[in-house]
Amino acid sequence: MRPAGALPPRARAAVAATRAVNAASRRVGAGSGTVLGGWVGLAVEPHLLERLAAGRDVALVSGTNGKTTTTRLLVVAVAEGGRPVVTNATGSNMPQGHVAALAGGLPGAAAVLEADEGYVPALVAELHPAVVALLNLSRDQLDRTNEVRMVAGRWRQALGAAPATTVVANADDPLVVWGASAAARVVWVGAGLGWRMDAAGCPACEGRIDFAGARGWACTCGFARPALDVWMAHDADDGAGTTAVFADGRRVPVVLGIPGRFNEANAVVAAAAAEVLGVPAGRALALMARVDEVAGRFAVRDVHGVPTRLMLAKNPAGWAELLDLVCPGEGPVVVGINARVADGKDPSWLWDVAFERLRGRPVVATGERCRDLAVRLRYAEVPHRTVEDPARAVRMASELAAAGPAGPAGPAGADGAGAGVRVDFIGNYTAFHDLLAGS
Ligand SMILES: [Zn+2]
Repeated sequence: MRPAGALPPRARAAVAATRAVNAASRRVGAGSGTVLGGWVGLAVEPHLLERLAAGRDVALVSGTNGKTTTTRLLVVAVAEGGRPVVTNATGSNMPQGHVAALAGGLPGAAAVLEADEGYVPALVAELHPAVVALLNLSRDQLDRTNEVRMVAGRWRQALGAAPATTVVANADDPLVVWGASAAARVVWVGAGLGWRMDAAGCPACEGRIDFAGARGWACTCGFARPALDVWMAHDADDGAGTTAVFADGRRVPVVLGIPGRFNEANAVVAAAAAEVLGVPAGRALALMARVDEVAGRFAVRDVHGVPTRLMLAKNPAGWAELLDLVCPGEGPVVVGINARVADGKDPSWLWDVAFERLRGRPVVATGERCRDLAVRLRYAEVPHRTVEDPARAVRMASELAAAGPAGPAGPAGADGAGAGVRVDFIGNYTAFHDLLAGS
């Protein structure tokens, strides 16, 4: 392996070009330019990623949902003791973004990189990662090429040819298990799987997977959930919350500053990955507890006087997780949908989301496709208001909640006194970012 910092001349030129383009892009106010710089660097040296990864500890994080959050948590853990870490900016999870991250950081710094599911095979071949964390695979934007079974098959091929890589994989997702089980070493995490609609067909024999077994899922062909190395115990009764339990007997409490069981699962996967990079899981989880916001995923904001918890969900599995988080409950909920290019132009996935769970609470539909959402909510028998402007929708939801069953014309709503009731806002990609930018 080449020592850190000793890049061959062509790669040095490519790094200089990447940095120059990104600096110029920042100067003219065209953003940080990470993708553009990455393009240029790869044009100068097509194997730039491999060159830049030499001599580093590299971790990849992938899956349909949770990869941005898990990457953030893993960065915090790996940075333990002041160790330098580079990572890619939100939204730059393809090779151009990885080039920019690696070219911009200290030589020899560890790299924790979020990876688009489709690029995992190429990245494994180029980066020779020490660890690859795989979370889940489910349907995403319907107008894009993302056939999850094909993706799992490609993961399997790539990881089978990477003997030095340890995979940390969600054992509860049959497609992830199919992709990971060809690897030389796998740490199996019982991370859960709320959304099973894409996992019912067995990837080994095309039979049907049975999820009802006491030891997790299994198919009659013998393909079944592997024995777990790490799992989660939920001890709600004694108030102890969630504990990560290791097969070697260790028990580590999972206490996070970001909400939801699915984020606890992300943290346990990140902790198992951190161990591969030399940080004990207990220490890793303690460090992750300090994270209370993940850029572009979770935030708490004041939206024109209304305390609002903003959450991003991009696809049915993501919506299922966030509905688990806000239900049961009685507080007001705003649901927002756009259908721009970044969101996927086909919003028919709305029909795969169990909006029925919002019955009985104040609900406002918003975003550019609020009318599609309104039709869906009507079929779900969820009474709601429809307001295209997301900030106005948040205000209305808060007022509806304060007014109670009497409605916003009642005494509390009449003078706007209800505007202080906290609102949960769940939006897809650009709906979330519009409200975040405007608040
Ligand atoms: Zn089978």
